[in-house]
Amino acid sequence: MERTFVMVKPDGVQRGVIGSIINRFEQKGFKLNAIKLMSIDHALAEEHYRDLRMKPFFGELVDYLTSGSVCAMIWEGPNAVANARALIGKTNPVEASPGTIRGDYAMDVASNIVHGSDSPESARREIGLFFDQELPMNPIMGFMQGEPSAE
Ligand code: GDP
Ligand code: MG
Repeated sequence: MERTFVMVKPDGVQRGVIGSIINRFEQKGFKLNAIKLMSIDHALAEEHYRDLRMKPFFGELVDYLTSGSVCAMIWEGPNAVANARALIGKTNPVEASPGTIRGDYAMDVASNIVHGSDSPESARREIGLFFDQELPMNPIMGFMQGEPSAE
């Protein structure tokens, strides 16, 4: 079992497609571990994308990420990182296949609506950046198994 960090970027939140994106992850078989709507300040955006700080588009990227609310999520499942990347599609929506999230919802690399960690190490780092406290694996299943039925 593995975890990955996924984030609906400000353009995705603005366009009202959080639910559609969550639906795709659920449909695929991922389990939602944590979710929150939040805003990102420049420091967090710069830290999150620190590997890209030398890129010419870094300033534009930080402005994009801090332009509105994001939806930060932890999803888990077998090969969660690679499965999420496959679901999300290539970085540039022009190259992202139809059927992937970016292929179906985005047109421009500068506003590609969703982020997914690129390795298990990145996932751990990013989860640590965005979430203070991690929930135990499969909290929903654990809750359902542990709770007596309501009726
Ligand atoms: P990802 O892992 O598929 O998100 O791609 P990268 O880690 O290479 O890049 C991170 C993010 O930077 C991408 O998702 C885009 O939002 C943004 N980005 C990448 N290339 C460009 C570019 O050429 N121009 C701009 N404005 N943004 C870019
Ligand atoms: Mg990346």
